[in-house]
Amino acid sequence: MTEKIIILADGRSRPPAIPPAFEAPTGEVRDRLARPLRDLRISITDRCNFRCVYCMPKEVFDKDYQYLPHSSLLTFEEITRLARQFVAHGVEKIRLTGGEPLLRKNIERLIEMLAALRTVDGKPLDLTLTTNGSLLARKARALKEAGLQRVTVSLDALDDATFRAMNDVDFAVSDVLEGIEAAHDAGLGPIKVNMVVKAGTNEQEILPMARHFHGTPHILRFIEFMDVGASNGWNMKDVIPSAEIVRRIGAELPMVQMDPNYTGETAARWRYADGGGEVGVISSVTQAFCRDCTRARLSTEGKLYTCLFATQGHDLRALLRGGHSDEELAAAVGALWQARGDRYSELRTINTDGLSGSGARKVEMSYIGG
Ligand code: SAM
Repeated sequence: MTEKIIILADGRSRPPAIPPAFEAPTGEVRDRLARPLRDLRISITDRCNFRCVYCMPKEVFDKDYQYLPHSSLLTFEEITRLARQFVAHGVEKIRLTGGEPLLRKNIERLIEMLAALRTVDGKPLDLTLTTNGSLLARKARALKEAGLQRVTVSLDALDDATFRAMNDVDFAVSDVLEGIEAAHDAGLGPIKVNMVVKAGTNEQEILPMARHFHGTPHILRFIEFMDVGASNGWNMKDVIPSAEIVRRIGAELPMVQMDPNYTGETAARWRYADGGGEVGVISSVTQAFCRDCTRARLSTEGKLYTCLFATQGHDLRALLRGGHSDEELAAAVGALWQARGDRYSELRTINTDGLSGSGARKVEMSYIGG
């Protein structure tokens, strides 16, 4: 049974220092391992209407769980102002996540504000969102009209009983499939469908999922179960390596490996030899891709994390609400990125207690944003 623990938001982070002398952003900032800053994931709520057993287990995220108060959340204006500083440093892609991002009221307004930003080359951002799909059928069209370009939808099984057991709120597969179709019809494609594979829980769904999405324009991606946070009881025995997933699918539907779309892409790409579309595998456990990681994460309350497996963030909200100028904010972001040396997955030591090597507790995915 999962140990009952109350996870508080990361209270350890400090406001970052503003460098004493700084220059305006140049559109290119590199960290200690020469990785540029290209992607920003923004968690816009720590709440979710699902209780996926590997992410927000009911035993921990129960009725007594203390979510962030509304006043702690970054406002849309604050999110957009911060995003602008990241874009000035070279960010080209923004993904909204959570929690369940579609639970945030008036999200369309935030999308409109972010869609108005331009990269340093004057291009529109690649603006996307990850969702459990539960509200997508209702919202797809308005999201598209607001300026969202694409969506990624999480779906862990086609078998209804397996899916209901995994989301643990009795949500039906058919409703998510309806959301995917609504998103497709609204022009939010190509749609990526993410399936987290947990050994002994939904691995029997790998082939049914592959068969279902074979021949559609949707890109099915298999994610190795990761040791994020401290509440999901992660164990290496629960991980099905991507190589094994590729082997199982390939035995029935032969596949050919494809080149990445760009350096730093999380998924390794495969296409069906018969022209039936594309599949991706995200091997963050068995084949870590830290050396190409160009992602920064902004938590719901405005803390910057330079790694999904971080134990500590940097309190940008304190700078925002402390009266600092855009130039100072941008300088702080640039300095934080330059100091970044994270490569947790490459250094991962196998443990099952949710503690990192330093003994500090990792922040939850629902808080930092998946
Ligand atoms: N609520 C949205 C959703 O369901 O997609 C966005 C947030 S969710 C945290 C983002 C993604 O992280 C989902 O695809 C989810 O399956 C994945 N995820 C959560 N915990 C994970 C874990 N321990 N290992 C691998 N993927 C995980």
